[in-house]
Amino acid sequence: MKIKVMDNLLKANDVIAQNNRALFEAHNVFVVNLMSSPGSGKTSLLEKTAGLLPEDVKLGVIEGDIETAEDAKRMEKAGIPVVQIQTGSACHLDANMIAGALEEFDLAPIDILVIENVGNLVCPAEFRVGEDHKAMILSVTEGAEKPLKYPLMFHESSLCVINKIDLAPYCDFDMEKARENARHSSPDLDIIELSCRTGEGLEKWVEWLLAKRNAYLSGVKPPPFAPPHGHGGKAHEHTHPHT
Ligand code: MG
Ligand code: ZN
Repeated sequence: MKIKVMDNLLKANDVIAQNNRALFEAHNVFVVNLMSSPGSGKTSLLEKTAGLLPEDVKLGVIEGDIETAEDAKRMEKAGIPVVQIQTGSACHLDANMIAGALEEFDLAPIDILVIENVGNLVCPAEFRVGEDHKAMILSVTEGAEKPLKYPLMFHESSLCVINKIDLAPYCDFDMEKARENARHSSPDLDIIELSCRTGEGLEKWVEWLLAKRNAYLSGVKPPPFAPPHGHGGKAHEHTHPHT
């Protein structure tokens, strides 16, 4: 019975996600759902991104956090239009939360919207919010085995950014192993190595964003929603409440 409930919940979520996507399309906004564990560098990456995009490509951000508006403050400081979602107890963003944030968000001037999900390698991957792509960050301090432990997030993502490469020598991070493990879950996964701190590799992330946005503008749209989320289409059971 619990699985049944979760199934319905995901289906209801997908209906709202479709509505969100329609709204994005009406404004020609290309949308990335950015996921990672806490502290991997989602906010740092976004802080750097706005200044690296061409002047005529405007970035907007929706911040998802359980508490606080710290990350939204950082976006504002970087001159990025932002709406903060405080999820209260929920450990992921869902389509309904994004629909609520969109009531506050003027999409008209925005070209690329990045939704920074709650820091969590598990359930954010299960919920569509209307994005064109999911992308994720794995930082070298987390270890090269994470793709094997959290395969769904890697499977659902189009891109895996490997951040903090400047720290790789200090934490015995095996880059080749990490790439191999990530592609095990997702053979077509794009992988970009970078360091938000030193700036190395950031241009590759910006190139990826612009290339995917160009594809989107030229009519390459994500496939219509299929049965939920890999794993044989079976929704995941959760031991924590998803309200
Ligand atoms: Mg953050
Ligand atoms: Zn959750």
